[in-house]
Amino acid sequence: MQGSRPQLQDLEMRGNYINRHIGSNETQLKELLETLGLTCLEDIVEQAFPSNIVNQEPLKLTEIISESAVFKHLAKMRQNNKVLTSLIGMGYYNTDMPAVIKRNVLENPGWYTAYTPYQAEVSQGRLEALINFQQMIIDLTGMELANSSLLDEATAAAEAMSMSKRLSETTANTFFVDQDCFPQTIAVIKTRACSLGYEIITGPVEKLNEHQNLFGILVQNPDCSGAIKDLTSIVAEARKQSALVTVATDLLSLVLLKPPAAFGADIVVGNTQRFGVPMGYGGPHAAFFATKEAYKRSVPGRIIGVSKDNQDQTAFRLALQTREQHIRRDKATSNICTAQVLLAVIAGFYAVYHGPEGLRMIAGRVHRYTQILAAGLEQLGFQLQTHSYFDTVVVSTPGCAASYLAKAEYAGINLRFIDEDHLGMSLDETSNREIIRKLWRIFAADNAPMPDINLLDELTGECIPNELLRSDPILQHPVFAKYHSETEMMRYMRRLARRDIALDRAMIPLGSCTMKLNAATAMQTISYSSINGLHPFVPLHQAEGYRQLFDELEDMLCDLTGFDAFSFQPNAGSQGEYTGLLVIRKYHEVMGQGQRDICLIPASAHGTNPASASLAGLKVVVLACDDQGNVSLDDLRDKAALYKDTLAAIMITYPSTHGVFEEAFCEICTLVHENGGQVYMDGANFNALVGISRPGKLGADVAHLNLHKTFSIPHGGGGPGAGPIGVGAHLAPYLPDHPVVKGVNRFATEQGTVGTVSAAPWGSASILAISWAYIAMMGAVGLRKATLAAILNANYIAKRLAPHFPILYTGKNGWVAHECIIDCSEFKKTAGVSVDDIAKRLIDYGFHAPTVAFPVADTLMIEPTESESKIEIDRFCDALISIRLEIAEIENGSADLHNNLLHNAPHTHRLLLAEWQLPYSRQQAFFPDNHQHDDKYWPPVGRVDNVYGDRHLICSCPPLSDYE
Ligand SMILES: *Cc1c(COP(=O)(O)O)cnc(C)c1O
Repeated sequence: MQGSRPQLQDLEMRGNYINRHIGSNETQLKELLETLGLTCLEDIVEQAFPSNIVNQEPLKLTEIISESAVFKHLAKMRQNNKVLTSLIGMGYYNTDMPAVIKRNVLENPGWYTAYTPYQAEVSQGRLEALINFQQMIIDLTGMELANSSLLDEATAAAEAMSMSKRLSETTANTFFVDQDCFPQTIAVIKTRACSLGYEIITGPVEKLNEHQNLFGILVQNPDCSGAIKDLTSIVAEARKQSALVTVATDLLSLVLLKPPAAFGADIVVGNTQRFGVPMGYGGPHAAFFATKEAYKRSVPGRIIGVSKDNQDQTAFRLALQTREQHIRRDKATSNICTAQVLLAVIAGFYAVYHGPEGLRMIAGRVHRYTQILAAGLEQLGFQLQTHSYFDTVVVSTPGCAASYLAKAEYAGINLRFIDEDHLGMSLDETSNREIIRKLWRIFAADNAPMPDINLLDELTGECIPNELLRSDPILQHPVFAKYHSETEMMRYMRRLARRDIALDRAMIPLGSCTMKLNAATAMQTISYSSINGLHPFVPLHQAEGYRQLFDELEDMLCDLTGFDAFSFQPNAGSQGEYTGLLVIRKYHEVMGQGQRDICLIPASAHGTNPASASLAGLKVVVLACDDQGNVSLDDLRDKAALYKDTLAAIMITYPSTHGVFEEAFCEICTLVHENGGQVYMDGANFNALVGISRPGKLGADVAHLNLHKTFSIPHGGGGPGAGPIGVGAHLAPYLPDHPVVKGVNRFATEQGTVGTVSAAPWGSASILAISWAYIAMMGAVGLRKATLAAILNANYIAKRLAPHFPILYTGKNGWVAHECIIDCSEFKKTAGVSVDDIAKRLIDYGFHAPTVAFPVADTLMIEPTESESKIEIDRFCDALISIRLEIAEIENGSADLHNNLLHNAPHTHRLLLAEWQLPYSRQQAFFPDNHQHDDKYWPPVGRVDNVYGDRHLICSCPPLSDYE
């Protein structure tokens, strides 16, 4: 008995997170290894990695902490955040996320673990939620068309500027920005304009007529000080110059105000944060972008459209993808890839739940409180700067703003400090009588009589002139009327969620997207108000917990990557690319090499790479790849030499987009450096390197990491994301800063930085806690094990599928990295089967397709990640092999060339109702293998017609008859 007693250390380890993050248990791992002829995971290092990229130094992250210890540590960190009532405004407001939405969406993996809805048939639930979002934006702004989210209001405004330039019929090169826009919006626009070579003029919009040659203007309404403008004369003046008009606005105010479209706005942008999404110390939130139908082909970001399926049923899909970076590369309308889907879904549901009446009640209450607050302040002898406002007033405090500010903070309220003579305050959905009384008390002289709320309510009239108020009805579509009881709302959300395949249903083997586990423990962090309740512009001493979180996460990432500093400002991989390239440009400029503007990008690169390079004002030169999918060293040598005086950078994905560890990575870095360029590494595939290799020590100067891939932030159905960039010490001084929060870049020198790339100083701060928790729970040991398990799984799949499908690229010893590509081009000739047919047939087996046709046409790229078990991986391989046999039946003539299992896939329940006329059995169609008996996924629609959808573009909710 004594002898078999387990060791304490063993007992402690066995319960740890690592073993539950990695899908296969020790026995399964052993089986996987045996299939590949190995005995232990560590053998993979020797087998798969080029020896010159393997890190030999120990990492600092040696301590593995248990889930409960992580929880305690985070709790301590959170306690150092002070959650006051922030009335700072400037684009961020308190809001009540309805608990029914919090519990059923934010905290439901059916919503947060889904991917971008590329496969429309398995994404109808979130596509419907997103079209509700678009309908809400269309209704409230009055515009004809809206997209499904941009990253934040400031970048949405920058996108509006770029779109204005694209559409402009003049040769004008100047964009006018009203000085009363949010400072962070102005800063982001200036950064973008600088890289694109546009002039920016900021000034009072009333003096627009003093400027000539404008291609567009941006005006904010209500503006930063809360004032509501009559835009009529401003739009007329802009028209005279053929300049496009962008209006940045507040969505809640539009419930009451005449919409921007009624003034003739061309583009309307803003944030939907206050529709139920917590402030999160800056993010994530969904920004919106609305415009006219005529400009649809120029719209940045994702648009959801209505189409039909092969049985003439209404079906949703991503519309107009030909504008996007994966097709148009450096000529794309923008570089946006990951957007803010989960947050757009939440904001859309907020409108569905409250409906037009509820929203009018909320907006009306906020506005009424603001007028009463203002009247009371006047009664107390204060002068107000604005007289027509929605929720924000600016109070004159001659010479003593700081003392009122301090008094307010002491009373638990943050106000906006404008200057010594002015303070601003913005009320919101959570404001109440007590807060108003508190505010009066802060401003009142010691024994001044307090104003009376009820009395003021009677005495105070509407401050907004009638002609600026809204008279048309909003949100008339039935979806905004049907789900106001919690029961109905709960069922609606569940109905939509079960239409989709997310990670809660099956593995999602999307190559390059790294659909790994998003642990419940890590996810819990974002539900705490001490994480999500902070306004991004609170005084830094109220956010010490966040400071600690940023510092610790930066240390962790520096340790893992070998870089010297990180910026958390970029809100997605695409934004990291853009920022990293700006940093490189700035560095060259400081070095007196400002002429360097060539960016080498391999032909196989992700579409965001060329799109970001062109946003950063660089000229893209494409590098050839050899037969093995590697960068052609000969071509690189030639081009680096040819452009040696103008070479700015290479953008190289490592491991490559083909899922291979190129042997020549270090050599490529050296070649580029020798010719004066910097190395930008696309680190989206860092999942294959964590704990093994440190690119910052191999020659990469900058890299972005996709925290929503490698570091376990969920994809949210297409966002949020986080794309922080790591840099070498020589680039750290140029990392982004922020106009409102000082000291964001602590390395900044008098040479200046690249400016600001996101609205919030640390981007989507709240979700950084998820990655922190993931890294803390895994430690260096766990992260290394995860990397090796991910590579093991990919190679196991390659091995199992190799007899049935050609495997496209391999590296050392015939090994792939963390993903593998199967070539399906032959089946077109032999069976008339396209790669899409295979993707759709997988749905009948209950699977989400792998990445289709990227980075090579007619292929599937499969990435299992470490989180999938051998059982699930086998299930997936079985399905693909079974589909291969179905193809063989077409090849050998026993199945029809057109009317077959693949062409007709996915098979919907509707087929069951009609008389069965297909040349194969229902069993084959619906239950092709045993697994469907456990949990059959019924696709809500059949194959979606893409061409029809783009030809008959509809981006708003279809009429109710279509749902029935
Ligand atoms: C996902 C990905 C990107 C883009 O990242 P987003 O966060 O979607 O903007 C860039 N490069 C590669 C290789 C990727 O896989």
